[in-house]
Amino acid sequence: MYSKVEQQFKFPEPKDYADDIFKIVSNPLMQKIYKIYDLVSSYIREFLNKEGFQEYKAVIIGPVTDPGIRGAKQVSIDYYGREYKIMSSAILYKQLLSIANKSAGGSGKIYFFADNIRLEPLETASTDRHLAEFIQVDLEIFGADHHEAMNVAERLLSYVIERVKSREELKEIWNYFEPYRLSRGLKSRKSLKEFNPPFKRYTHKEAVDFLADYLSSHKEILDEMKKLFGYKPKELSYSSEIPWEYEWLMSYLHSEPFFIHDYPRGSRGFYDREYPDKLGLLMDFDLLYPEGYGEAASGAAREYELSKVVQRMKETGEKLEKYAWYLDFLKKYSAPTAGFGIGLERLVRYICGLPSIYLSIPTPKIPGVYSP
Ligand code: AMP
Ligand code: MG
Repeated sequence: MYSKVEQQFKFPEPKDYADDIFKIVSNPLMQKIYKIYDLVSSYIREFLNKEGFQEYKAVIIGPVTDPGIRGAKQVSIDYYGREYKIMSSAILYKQLLSIANKSAGGSGKIYFFADNIRLEPLETASTDRHLAEFIQVDLEIFGADHHEAMNVAERLLSYVIERVKSREELKEIWNYFEPYRLSRGLKSRKSLKEFNPPFKRYTHKEAVDFLADYLSSHKEILDEMKKLFGYKPKELSYSSEIPWEYEWLMSYLHSEPFFIHDYPRGSRGFYDREYPDKLGLLMDFDLLYPEGYGEAASGAAREYELSKVVQRMKETGEKLEKYAWYLDFLKKYSAPTAGFGIGLERLVRYICGLPSIYLSIPTPKIPGVYSP
């Protein structure tokens, strides 16, 4: 079966979807990937339901959406004469639902499978992990901080890997994509490694130190990064976000997943809480896959104090009146919560060892590419 597929199957390039999407989507190997997607979705629900989370319908449109999306553009629609946004993430609604659920006697642990639209910058077409339309499993926990959210993230990931790792389809998928993987800066894949919490937790400062240290004795890696991403690597800094190309490098140099936490203020949205006793640092985190696959999830303890939220919004030039419902909600009902969002397509990409994220779903929207 494998050799038959190999002979017939042509690796689908982004532009091929517009030519003959049916041919790609009906291919047995691609269908095996979509089956893994289906299973992964059900294992995530299984885990979250076991842990006492309740699923809600995802929000698609609203007066405002998440502004902290790393250079991506939001999409507006005309909603009966008013401008509405399609969710880039429904983060504000998670706080609402977690607190509402708790105040009605629930666990305060909530989630949704959220469709997000982000017109990502064109340069992300070469990261192999950005789509303009994707799903994040977005969850929120009442009364938790970012470390408790990290505990849930590492248990969730370990659970899904454990459930899926012996599926027969995977070997065929791994084998087919092996040569493509190697040429896209990913490690060879013969099996799925079991993950065991706790995962290593680097502070942002420790992560930058790790990268700077590696670079000091491996200057040649900068050329490889340039080849892989198509642009000269940006500057590493203790006071800003870690650029995609360095996230790749750090991920490539690890064989287990790991966290980076405590990002500097200014690198993330107003909803990531600042440590009251460590000003300038945020109580937030990213979870990164090993083997070069990069970021899996982002999360944080939420900034829930109205005055601080308003101050942060002003700093980043947000128009307060657009956030009227949210600010009013914080004023009346605010309470501490923490949560994270884990990208479903990226998880399937990691599990299947796919050279690029667009292969994980039948109708990918790749930044800058027109396709069905
Ligand atoms: P963020 O809060 O922006 O980090 O988004 C949460 C998670 O959603 C990320 O950690 C990714 O796994 C996923 N994600 C974000 N943007 C994209 C994208 N453009 N394409 C695919 N997945 C994404
Ligand atoms: Mg992120």
